[in-house]
Amino acid sequence: MRRDEIGMSITDRRPLRRTISYREKLFSMSSIYGENSFSENAMKKYLPYKTHETLKKMMREGGKVSPELAEEVAQGMKEWAVEKGATHFTHWFHPMTGLTAEKHDSFLSIGRGGTVIERFSGSNLIQGEPDASSFPSGGLRSTFEARGYTAWDPTSPAFLVESLNGATLCIPCVFLSYTGEALDKKTPLLRSMERLSDIAGRLLRLFGKKGVTRVHSTVGPEQEYFLVDRAYYNARPDLVLTGRTLFGAKPPKGQEMEDHYFGSIRERVLAFMQDAEFEMFRLGIPVKTRHNEVAPAQFEIAPLFEDSNTATDHNQIVMETLKKIAWRHEFALLLHEKPFSGINGSGKHNNWSMSDSEGANLLEPGKTPHENLQFLTFLLGTIKAVHKYADILRASVATAGNDHRLGANEAPPAIISVFLGEQLTKILDNIEQDKKIDSSDRAIIDLGLGKLPVISRDNTDRNRTSPFAFTGNKFEFRAVGSSHSVAMANCTLNTIVADVLAGFCADIEGGLKKGKSLNKAVLEVLRPVIRETRPVRFEGNNYSAEWEKEAKRRGLPNRKDTPDALSAFLDKKNMEMFIRNGVFSAAEIMSIHMIMTEQYVKVVNIEAETALTIAKTLIRPAAEEEFSRRAATAASSAAVKSSGATLLKREAVVYGDLLSDLVSGTIALESTLARREKIADEVKKAEYYCSEVLPAMNSLRAVVDKLEDETSDGLWPLPKYREMLYIY
Ligand code: ADP
Ligand code: MG
Repeated sequence: MRRDEIGMSITDRRPLRRTISYREKLFSMSSIYGENSFSENAMKKYLPYKTHETLKKMMREGGKVSPELAEEVAQGMKEWAVEKGATHFTHWFHPMTGLTAEKHDSFLSIGRGGTVIERFSGSNLIQGEPDASSFPSGGLRSTFEARGYTAWDPTSPAFLVESLNGATLCIPCVFLSYTGEALDKKTPLLRSMERLSDIAGRLLRLFGKKGVTRVHSTVGPEQEYFLVDRAYYNARPDLVLTGRTLFGAKPPKGQEMEDHYFGSIRERVLAFMQDAEFEMFRLGIPVKTRHNEVAPAQFEIAPLFEDSNTATDHNQIVMETLKKIAWRHEFALLLHEKPFSGINGSGKHNNWSMSDSEGANLLEPGKTPHENLQFLTFLLGTIKAVHKYADILRASVATAGNDHRLGANEAPPAIISVFLGEQLTKILDNIEQDKKIDSSDRAIIDLGLGKLPVISRDNTDRNRTSPFAFTGNKFEFRAVGSSHSVAMANCTLNTIVADVLAGFCADIEGGLKKGKSLNKAVLEVLRPVIRETRPVRFEGNNYSAEWEKEAKRRGLPNRKDTPDALSAFLDKKNMEMFIRNGVFSAAEIMSIHMIMTEQYVKVVNIEAETALTIAKTLIRPAAEEEFSRRAATAASSAAVKSSGATLLKREAVVYGDLLSDLVSGTIALESTLARREKIADEVKKAEYYCSEVLPAMNSLRAVVDKLEDETSDGLWPLPKYREMLYIY
């Protein structure tokens, strides 16, 4: 279909064809919530009482699954799933690349006498054995030991995925090699949660909270995405193959009018959102907020927070569901961090906190001096962790896609700093200087030191430019990419915070042993931390050029691209930290570094190859056609001795120059790409792609974008920004 015809067909599509055809009835949220998740209600109904109690305890506190328990859960789960139309089950896991992985098996079994029955055993539930050889292991597995296995994670609820012709029971799993190394993102995340729970629990007991059995890190990921009409998407090989536009001139209108953010949601988009949310409710995913984002055609969905394991699984399902339902609505949903240049990219604001088994949020300021001291301990523990391990936190979100946000002049920058707000900063200053302040009429935070202004949630100011901002009772880590699994970021956060808190614990315990009061022992630990974390605390504009200079002066790392950022994994300090906390083995860290490096190379390579194909087979023919027209016009105007002949000729020459720039740009990219063959080392290769291939792609893009602005609209072969971003 020609580009202008696509535009017309989209216009025809509005107002909507029936989009809610598969959902006829009205529903109340509470009546459908979680019906496709093997949740509390389902378990109550399908499991024997004792099994249910044991499983519930395990979901809360962890523990080992006995074969008997597995057998009973498997029976109940199967019964539930089959009644809901499931024919197959799959172990559902998070390999190191891609979204999630599944391999479906049916419940089909031939019973005695050849009768067909549905069967699902405890061992089916507990363990699966997908061929691991096709998943990246970064050298962990030698090819002759290609086997890996998946194991049920009872702490995350199983769920049903409905498709047009049936349903599949999905069992959240970890994925391990036979020698026990993690081949997935969930295993390290679970380890980090364990570790944080142990350390934070120990710290809480020092504060007298003896009844706490577990501490969870909690996560609420705000998910950003773009929508474009499917017809445009299909007509853009770059979107189809790479998720982002490799070419595309800036439209006359970008986001400068600021008329999209929080604007009223278009009917067609809202219909999609409602459908997607309907599915998510049924899966027991607590989606809460939806709105238009800053860039045109950009949107956000945010859930209520959950423990970091469930939140991670749920975010994966959210991304998959959004894409699937968008497709049904004739949209393509773009999760790429930078699908369009010149307007905002997409991220995932990873809201993070810790919560104890009594339901208390450990980053929530308290009412008593004692509670506030505890709050400050966890707060400063987090700040110190982010300061000390900023490089590894940055590495945890390093991908080719995210480089377009973090490395460019866009939110948030690659420099990791912490925003606290004026009040908290003042409080920390006062504690550091041991200042006692008299109470004003305002609410106060009382540390038993005198009176300091209270930290109230509503009073915390906002800094939208900070990569790691305190927002009243949680931190918001904004550098996670929109397409990422949040597993790695949260695994890193949990581990670095646990590591620092372990140090706090030991020091406070030391002070107590010497007979100091808790107050004194704690403050003696915190005071130097306040001083030492000054460099990482920044309240100003993170996008400014001054901050870049200032951060350098403060010694904060600023790793703008993935190859540079990833080197943090191999840093001795970081490796030891992960190993010390039992989250990664040395071999696992090396493998993650290798996998992320390989991923980077593959992504940029596909982009470069796609750019070449588009330039050669779509752009060039259009440009040649335009040039011929212009040359012909100039020739005929010269033939009739028109007064504009010279001007028209000059213009044809200028266009001809652009055309030759296109050809030379293509050749340059091609030869740059060819030289990669000479580089064997993967890290060197990644650096080459970063320093040579990407710039060659950018130069080619500059020419193509200029051509787009100069070429007849009817000849241009790709949907344009002004169409994709505004016509839907
Ligand atoms: P914003 O103004 O940044 O959009 P919201 O109040 O809408 O902030 O919350 C954003 C996200 O933070 C939501 O997903 C919410 O569930 C999550 N959140 C709130 N409290 C916590 C917490 N204690 N731990 C983790 N996430 C939280
Ligand atoms: Mg937010």
